[in-house]
Amino acid sequence: MLTTLLTQKSNSDHLIPDDLFTAINDLKRDLNAVVLAHYYQDPDIQDIADYIGDSLGLSQQAAMTDADVIVFAGVHFMAETAKILNPDKLVLLPDLNAGCSLADSCPPQEFSKFKAKYPDHLVISYINCTAEIKAMSDIICTSSNAVKIVNQIPLDQQIIFAPDRNLGRYVMEQTGRNLVLWQGSCIVHETFSERKIIQLKIEHPEAEIIAHPECEPAILRHASYIGSTTALLNYCQKSSSQAFIVATEPGIIHQMQKEEPQKIFIPAPAINNCACNECPHMRLNTLEKLYLAMKNKQPEITLPEDIQQKALRPIQKMLLMS
Ligand code: SF4
Repeated sequence: MLTTLLTQKSNSDHLIPDDLFTAINDLKRDLNAVVLAHYYQDPDIQDIADYIGDSLGLSQQAAMTDADVIVFAGVHFMAETAKILNPDKLVLLPDLNAGCSLADSCPPQEFSKFKAKYPDHLVISYINCTAEIKAMSDIICTSSNAVKIVNQIPLDQQIIFAPDRNLGRYVMEQTGRNLVLWQGSCIVHETFSERKIIQLKIEHPEAEIIAHPECEPAILRHASYIGSTTALLNYCQKSSSQAFIVATEPGIIHQMQKEEPQKIFIPAPAINNCACNECPHMRLNTLEKLYLAMKNKQPEITLPEDIQQKALRPIQKMLLMS
């Protein structure tokens, strides 16, 4: 697997100020920095961000920003995408250990052998993958646009879809296409308990079940609406329902609650009595680490130039096809 080159100065170089919100806003101004945050980040990080979104929205923002510094409050592959789109800008990730189980489930060497078995196939990869997998792909997609992109491919063109098998299955259902699926998955979206969701629905019959397509089919079949995090957020605003059981990472509920304070949002429970429905990678970022990353201008995301260049084309194709 590609080792992203990185450097990290000791965080003890700087004391943490009491008022982190003011300190971060001052640094944003001094550095001409933009803070992009995913919906799965802690509420404090969402509240300080200049833009909050899902992978598609964050990529679009990264592609059009005129800031000199991009502080990416998300996971590693997202910050890599921002760097691929902005090779000359400083891209910071508050915690370099913020990885992704789904991206890790598709090691480049094994994927290269897999791809070689299907030489005539087009490779469409979900954005939740490493820069090396992106470099081996023809088009990138997100959960917002996967169906739309597959629908634009001629019917006689066969397709490999990687790395998420659940999203791939969902796209197959929606498009009627037969895709060759890489068998990767996300630990968070595979943790929801069908039994507990049914139990919750019995206790709250008025609540609608809404789910992210990375969930397993057993969960998706109970959902009255399936969509990306942004689509789920928009749906809660449009729907006349007053309560929702939300089957995705519960960080999104912060925005749902802000947009619709009178509605009730219940996080879908995990199989075990744990907080496993919270992404352990996303939650590594904290407001303190975000402040230190800006103050120290580290940890920085860097990529080998050849990977950066090869990965750019399929991302640009996605942005054009969205
Ligand atoms: S929620 Fe899943 S897909 Fe998203 S970053 Fe976490 S592990 Fe990766």
